[in-house]
Amino acid sequence: MNLEHLTREDTAVLTSAQLLEIQTFITEHLKDVLEDLRRIVQCETPSQDKALLDAGLTEIRALTIERLGEPSHEARTEGGEYGDALELLWPGAPAAADDAAAAVTSEAPVTSVCHYDTVWPAGTLSVWPMSIDGDRLTGPGVLDMKFGIVQTIWAVLALRSAGITHAPVRLLLTGDEEIGSVAGRPVIEAATKDSRVTLVPEPSAGGQPKDRRKGMVFADITVHGVEAHAGLEPENGASAVHALAVLVPEIVALAAPERGTTVNVGTLQGGTGRNVVAGRAECLVDVRVTETAEQDRVADALRALTLPEPYRSDERLRLELQVDANRPPMNPTPASEAAMARLAQLAAGLGRELSPRMVGGASDANFISALGLPVLDGLGAVGEGPHAWHEHLLISGVAPQTALLAGMLAE
Ligand SMILES: [Zn+2]
Repeated sequence: MNLEHLTREDTAVLTSAQLLEIQTFITEHLKDVLEDLRRIVQCETPSQDKALLDAGLTEIRALTIERLGEPSHEARTEGGEYGDALELLWPGAPAAADDAAAAVTSEAPVTSVCHYDTVWPAGTLSVWPMSIDGDRLTGPGVLDMKFGIVQTIWAVLALRSAGITHAPVRLLLTGDEEIGSVAGRPVIEAATKDSRVTLVPEPSAGGQPKDRRKGMVFADITVHGVEAHAGLEPENGASAVHALAVLVPEIVALAAPERGTTVNVGTLQGGTGRNVVAGRAECLVDVRVTETAEQDRVADALRALTLPEPYRSDERLRLELQVDANRPPMNPTPASEAAMARLAQLAAGLGRELSPRMVGGASDANFISALGLPVLDGLGAVGEGPHAWHEHLLISGVAPQTALLAGMLAE
């Protein structure tokens, strides 16, 4: 990273008047902002439906280019069964005509990372179209996080309208955040390396950013046994249920609440009937951690699980473990703290006090933060109910949140 950029970034913050001008611009264009949101909410983009994801990404790309013009750089990464990732870059502005090309190549961009997939299945819109009731705007994915895409577009438009110099802007759209970012992660990690700061307009915590997120470990634990009639010949069976049942307390004991590590055995299933020795049993485990060391400890312990005696020496029983240490925990890093300090200055310019929050859910910011890169998360809409039927955002939060985001894009 270029130190000159850091210095400039640390010293130059928009004035209160400039921020209020941006906020006013958004308020004056609120109808258009919300129509843009409706346009992309109307494209359903469930994480598991590649055809719908492709159609949605095409529409989002079209909207973005209609609003911001042709990007100077564009790259689409095929996601296989997952949604594609699309990177769009616009040069910093206003740049002098004679060195515009140099500006594009030499200046580190600010990246906005937005996922366009949602948890809502196809057909949700037919029973729940986007609608507005007073200050509440509801619809599938409005908060998490289609507004973030529209917010990024309008932040740039507001800066252009006010003639405020801004960094090159990269919009990175990914299509599998809600199911673990298998395809999105490598693209995000590669694309944000050269960013002066990465902004993640995931839902805010009541207008506050999120500076700490828990990391996760997922485990699928299966015991395979042998079925037999429980009355006629129980000795010919090997019960997977009995074996898994004694393993569960061992799994639960991996929790360390004093260090922020929680363990939940969310499902426990096995067997086919009361009078059948169970041939198979399975449990799904969700672990949340605040420390990387804890993530390693629990993942290692889960991978090393073995059946206790007398089940261990029964060769008819087999333990199958699938352990995925998905997202690392996000904690403040020196790089992110510097960005947060800048955000706090901007918030103060809007008469707001910043108080970053910790949340249990993870996002793509976890990956970026783990690399020691500067990232700010939870910069998006003010609202409630992500992944729930009462998902909504507050229209009164649209302009203030967009102004804050714009401030981070400005030079
Ligand atoms: Zn999200």
